[in-house]
Amino acid sequence: MTDQPLIGGCLCGDIRYQITPPALFVSQCCCKDCQKATGTGHTTIFGLRSQQLQLQGTPKTYTNAGESGGSVTRHFCGECGGRLYTTGDLPGDTIVIMQAGSLDDPNLISPESVIYTKDAVTWDVFDPALPQFEARQPRSL
Ligand SMILES: [Zn+2]
Ligand SMILES: [Zn+2]
Repeated sequence: MTDQPLIGGCLCGDIRYQITPPALFVSQCCCKDCQKATGTGHTTIFGLRSQQLQLQGTPKTYTNAGESGGSVTRHFCGECGGRLYTTGDLPGDTIVIMQAGSLDDPNLISPESVIYTKDAVTWDVFDPALPQFEARQPRSL
């Protein structure tokens, strides 16, 4: 994990952000909602405390009920639709889940686990060295 600031933003550049490292975790998430929200087999995410994220611009949001019943809000650019991050009723509600692909250099982070494998599609493949979890990964945050 790098200790230089992580910068990124949406596709059109209307929304930009800077992150104070370190990320709390980095995972590949295979859940159904990530598939629908991103149009991919899985999405690569990393966790932060909200105070680590500095945002320029105002994302649009979409909120639905997550699998645990709590609300999950996805933040994205209203202009280009680029996905940026997710917040919600997660354990310790100061957590922000960033979309790793929105980083200007996504190679600065690397996945440490695969989560929600129960929803993984058959054609998606993962690094066999990574620990896999059927649903949420137990974390002490
Ligand atoms: Zn945009
Ligand atoms: Zn997910």
